[in-house]
Amino acid sequence: MSTAFLSIDLDAIAANWRALDQASSDTVETAAVVKANAYGLGVARVATRLAAEGARRFFVAAAEEGVNLRRALGPGPEINILSGHMEGDTKLIAEAQLTPMINSADQLVRQLESLPGAPFGVQLDTGMNRLGMEPAEWAALRDIALAQNPTLIMSHLACADEPDHPMNPHQLRIFKEMTAGTAVPLSLSATGGILLGPEYHFNVTRPGIGLYGGRPFEQAATVVRLDLPVIQLREIDAGETVGYGNAWTAERPSLIATLAAGYADGIHRAIARDTVLWAGEYAVPLIGRISMDLITVDVTDLPVEVPSALTLLGDQQGIDVLADTAGTIGYEFLTDLGNRYKRSYLG
Ligand SMILES: *Cc1c(COP(=O)(O)O)cnc(C)c1O
Repeated sequence: MSTAFLSIDLDAIAANWRALDQASSDTVETAAVVKANAYGLGVARVATRLAAEGARRFFVAAAEEGVNLRRALGPGPEINILSGHMEGDTKLIAEAQLTPMINSADQLVRQLESLPGAPFGVQLDTGMNRLGMEPAEWAALRDIALAQNPTLIMSHLACADEPDHPMNPHQLRIFKEMTAGTAVPLSLSATGGILLGPEYHFNVTRPGIGLYGGRPFEQAATVVRLDLPVIQLREIDAGETVGYGNAWTAERPSLIATLAAGYADGIHRAIARDTVLWAGEYAVPLIGRISMDLITVDVTDLPVEVPSALTLLGDQQGIDVLADTAGTIGYEFLTDLGNRYKRSYLG
């Protein structure tokens, strides 16, 4: 094994989707968010598996992603575009039968003029101030939009990963006010919102990160496993240094393993100081600086023979552990996982 090996467990993704689906009542439809190439894990494989599992509604960020996804899924499943109907996207939306989530008056006009009778949803801004129509804009357009039978009215929570945050009930109240009296299916919650409880579920939920094994879905099954091959082993004396900037100095005679992956593969330099890798059940510390293509590990205390690869991500340690160390979030770690890995899919 010469290249690093990224394994993606489709059975685990399916199990996480089912678990999040079961967190809602039977009348709530659980969609799947597969934007950014399914959070870096491969949209065709992930979405095909989730469709087989029963997912009928998918969300991506942009029309181009929707076209790709339609190619993978074929006709049938609804593909929603979170950025809505952008200028220049009309042809893609029509040909790939995408459903834009309309975010503004401009987008609504574009949709109704260029694709009359075609399906669309509406995205409302309930306080996040990122995407969607604000209350006044919606009040002015509501009758026009509702007369066209939108497929969905949705909004997004800003603080759902903090269950006690007052923004959650605040946005819930605004969403209820803005959608009162409509018969259109409603959607407010991503992974975090699902975990806030049934009040937040409405008709459709939109989990993303929870499918891929990330926080705040703490019970998620492990999806990603990353094994880095040992290219070289060397013995060094006390006082010798390892890596760029002489960043690490051996305090005793040491055995150092050099592994084939680095920051160009999404292993952030910021995790260098406080991360372990795993040889089966044994943890060994990452040492020195992370290079573009290489990292170094102190395997001096490993009580077994150094294996051909060490595990950076797996059951013992998930994306959130590394993200915490790097001062970022699991989402960023996942979407940064590089293209050089040899990828394999389980299940
Ligand atoms: C990314 C996104 C989601 C999924 O969020 P997770 O936190 O990954 O579950 C849902 N809805 C919208 C609008 C999003 O942008």
